[in-house]
Amino acid sequence: MNHRGILLVVSGFAGSGKGTLMKELMRRYDNYAFSVSATTRKPRPGEVHGREYFFMDKDHFERMIENDELLEHACYVGNYYGTPKFYVEEQLAAGKDVILEIETQGALMIKDQYPDSLLLFVMPPSVTELHRRLVERGTETPEVIASRMERGRQEVEEIEKYDFLVVNDNIDECVERLHGTIVSAHYATKRNMETIETIKKEFQEFFE
Ligand code: 5GP
Repeated sequence: MNHRGILLVVSGFAGSGKGTLMKELMRRYDNYAFSVSATTRKPRPGEVHGREYFFMDKDHFERMIENDELLEHACYVGNYYGTPKFYVEEQLAAGKDVILEIETQGALMIKDQYPDSLLLFVMPPSVTELHRRLVERGTETPEVIASRMERGRQEVEEIEKYDFLVVNDNIDECVERLHGTIVSAHYATKRNMETIETIKKEFQEFFE
């Protein structure tokens, strides 16, 4: 079987609970590596540089773009967000499934560049629940919450380009469903072309 990891692209509206879901997935299973993004957004209380994000100013971020150090990047509600290349490549080669928790523009760029990547979209049970979670989180101003809801309305149009939907109703069940989906993806024929080639060769040799 193929021992290279899968590039997992996880998107979902702000407030869908995808962050909590990813943390729980990583806590339960050790085959995952989380790609820490670069951003120009200011840290929220409790966020740590190098853990949630690499926080930086706009100049620094633009230098990373110029030096081709990012796998993808996008602008989201007034800030830059991007995936540093180095860590992703290293972890995939080591056989880890690498999680990119990114918005839809970046996700679709990754899908173009890496056709073998697996795109997962996390949905809240309803839009009312989504809004309630954003307000309850209390980390954003009403204006930012409104922009994030508006962005959600645009992102909805892209969902069908993803491979799988993950409805985040119950965190415990959702983590297990998600992990099961990823495990199955490892057995997809398109990710195991080498194994298929080997068996073809063995058949040839058998009849020689
Ligand atoms: P937040 O500010 O709530 O942490 O993230 C805002 C949005 O940016 C979320 O949808 C998050 O998934 C996305 N995001 C985080 N890192 C990246 C990245 O490296 N690239 C892209 N394209 N989006 C990102």
